[in-house]
Amino acid sequence: MSARDYVEKDYYASLGVPKTATQAEIKKAYRKLARQHHPDANKGDAASEEKFKEISEAYDVLSDETKRKEYDEARTLFGSGGFRMPRGGAGNGTPFDLGDLFGGAGGGGGFGDIFTTIFGGGRGRGAQAGRRGADAETEVTLSFDDAARGVTVPLQLASTGPCPSCHGSGAKPGTSTRVCPRCEGTGSSSRNAGGFAFAEPCRECRGRGLLVDDPCPTCSGVGQTVTTRTIRTRIPAGVRDSQRIRIPGKGQPGLNGGPAGDLIVHVHVQPHGVFGRKGDNLTLTLPVTFPEAALGATVRVPTLEGPAVSVKIPAGTTSGRTLRVRGKGVTRRDGTRGDLLVTVEVAVPTTLTDEAKAALASYAEMQTDDPREHLTRMAGT
Ligand SMILES: [Zn+2]
Ligand SMILES: [Zn+2]
Repeated sequence: MSARDYVEKDYYASLGVPKTATQAEIKKAYRKLARQHHPDANKGDAASEEKFKEISEAYDVLSDETKRKEYDEARTLFGSGGFRMPRGGAGNGTPFDLGDLFGGAGGGGGFGDIFTTIFGGGRGRGAQAGRRGADAETEVTLSFDDAARGVTVPLQLASTGPCPSCHGSGAKPGTSTRVCPRCEGTGSSSRNAGGFAFAEPCRECRGRGLLVDDPCPTCSGVGQTVTTRTIRTRIPAGVRDSQRIRIPGKGQPGLNGGPAGDLIVHVHVQPHGVFGRKGDNLTLTLPVTFPEAALGATVRVPTLEGPAVSVKIPAGTTSGRTLRVRGKGVTRRDGTRGDLLVTVEVAVPTTLTDEAKAALASYAEMQTDDPREHLTRMAGT
């Protein structure tokens, strides 16, 4: 039993009973006609066979109170022989769109249940039983500190939804859409090419199945508008530059009660003046003087969060050596933290007093080790 059958066939007329007929009257009418047109009694009579099928189909629907109710509702909604807007449908706030009928886009409003049942046959109930919303994407730029600590940010999301003025019909409030006469509401037309029939979107209604004579001024007859909404979401601590974060359930709303899609946030992290990132570790370049590197020293080093820490530079530390300060890095998902990696860099003074020059000269005379002995050997002389 297809939807079209419901709309096009008059089962009451087939059985010759009024719309108000009781179950007893329906049964009585069916029995009488069935005896009359039964194939056994009319061998080879095609017309009788057709009539027998017709009354069987009619009885199958009308004898079942549930099916009969659906049939009556479908006939009321669409009228007989074609689709028609329900009384006051466009004006009273009820979303109405062919998408609802055929499982396309649509809000899953008041008609959803009826259509699920009526149109369930061909397309499968699964298709109507709620579809997951699409994923939405957005981007956010975070400061280095916020990325390391985690932060709650407002995110602007643009989403397409039914126009609030016309509730998705595309018709100016107070007016109605009408069924496209070219495709009779199917939204597709077939084109013959080389003996094959191709289905293509109807050109008259651009595949919508409905025509709008008086377009809604808000959406220009499209039936959909782009709305911007702002959600606040928590970006977890430790997010990296160029990372994509998936926030479940914050994407486009689902259809027919399906779950919402996810929101994918593309994160940009601004660089920091002092700290760098290496995974969960923070990095820091620590300039030290030659005497500090040579003799050893304890140096105060800032951390991203919390108070400064003392870092012990061992005597004889070479430039470029990295010292690790445990637990002063970026907070991980499990609450543990990475380390602070301090790279020592011996700073060479660019200006020297005469006194300093003299001191360095006398130190140089004391220096006996050649730090580039291996190169000197290779270079000769
Ligand atoms: Zn509109
Ligand atoms: Zn059309």
